[in-house]
Amino acid sequence: MTAIESIAATLATARDVAVVSHIIPDGDCLGSTLALALALRQRGTRAVAVNADPVPDMFQFLPGQETIIPPAKVEEIPSLLVMVDSTDMERAGEGFSQWRQKTKMVINIDHHVSNTRFGDLNLVDSRAAATAELIYTVLEKIPVSITPAIATCLYTALATDTGSFQYENCTATTMRLAARLMEQGADLSLIREYLWERKPLASIRLLAAVLPTLTLAYDGRVAWLTVSRATLDTIGALPEHAEGLVNYPRSIAGVEVGLLFRELPDGLVKVSLRSKKIVDVNAVAARFGGGGHRRAAGCTIRGDLDTVVTMVVAAAGEAL
Ligand code: 5GP
Ligand code: MN
Ligand code: MN
Repeated sequence: MTAIESIAATLATARDVAVVSHIIPDGDCLGSTLALALALRQRGTRAVAVNADPVPDMFQFLPGQETIIPPAKVEEIPSLLVMVDSTDMERAGEGFSQWRQKTKMVINIDHHVSNTRFGDLNLVDSRAAATAELIYTVLEKIPVSITPAIATCLYTALATDTGSFQYENCTATTMRLAARLMEQGADLSLIREYLWERKPLASIRLLAAVLPTLTLAYDGRVAWLTVSRATLDTIGALPEHAEGLVNYPRSIAGVEVGLLFRELPDGLVKVSLRSKKIVDVNAVAARFGGGGHRRAAGCTIRGDLDTVVTMVVAAAGEAL
C-alpha cells in the first residue's frame, strides 16, 4: 500500500481525530486543517481542528474556522493525530511533542523538504506547491465528496502558498487542481475579497514605516527589511501585519536573497528568507534551527535585532 492509501484507509475508519498545524498559521496550514476536518465530519467522524494561535482576520472567512481551538482546550487527546503543513511536532507550539505519548497514532502530511518524517504514517512530498495538494489526493482516496466549503479551504491554501500562483513551486498540477476546485464551488469572490482587497490599514502603515529600513549587501544580491517592536507598537500593528513584507526585498532586480527580520517579545527574532534562483534558503535557515523550502524558509533566533541581522546576512552571503 502507498502512503496515500494507508492514510486514506486509516482516516476512513477513524472515529476520533485531531487535525493540528503550525503556529502563526498561514493559508495552507488553515486551509489544509479545515478541509480535512470538514471532510471527516461530513463522514460522521469526530474531528477537532487545533491551532495554538488565533486565526488571523484575513482567514476568518474560511468555512469552519470558528471551530479551531488551542491545544490547551482539547479535553481528551484523540487516539489519532494528523499533523498538516508542519516540519516537526514542535512547529505546533512549544511542548506539543508531548502529545506524541498521549496519542496512539500520528499521521504527517506535509510538503516541506525539511520535514523530519516524525509520523507513524508519512505523506511528505516537496514537489507539492501546498500541503493542500496532498490533502486533496487523500480526500479523493477516502473517498469524500468535495463540498464548496472544502473547495474554498483548499483553493485558499493553493493561492497563498504559491503567492497567487506566481512562485516556482506552482506547477501544472497546481493549476489543474485550482481549476477543479473552482468547478467544485470554491467561493472565489469571498477569497478575493479577504486575501487581496481587505488589507488592514495597519499593514499598509507598517509597510510605509518599514520600507526605509531597506538595506542591500553583497553587490545588491542580498536585501532585507527589519521590523522592530517599537515600530509595531507605534503603529499598533500585529506581527501578522508583517506577512508578505519579505517579498519587497526579493522583488528588486539583481537581488537573489530577500530577508525580513521581525523582533518578537522575549528577546527572539523571527527571520523570513526568500530566494529567486540559486540559493537554497532552507539550508541557510537550517543553520539557525529553522527550515522550510528551497525558495522560502524561516527560523527564529535568540538575540538582539542587530546581532541577528549580521549573522543571517553573513550566512546568506556565504550561500551566494
Ligand atoms: P515564513 O517566512 O513565511 O514564516 O515561512 C516560510 C516557510 O518557512 C514556510 O513554509 C514555513 O513553514 C517555514 N518556516 C518558517 N519559520 C520556520 C521555523 O521556525 N522552522 C521551520 N522548520 N520552518 C519554518
Ligand atoms: Mn505553512
Ligand atoms: Mn505550506
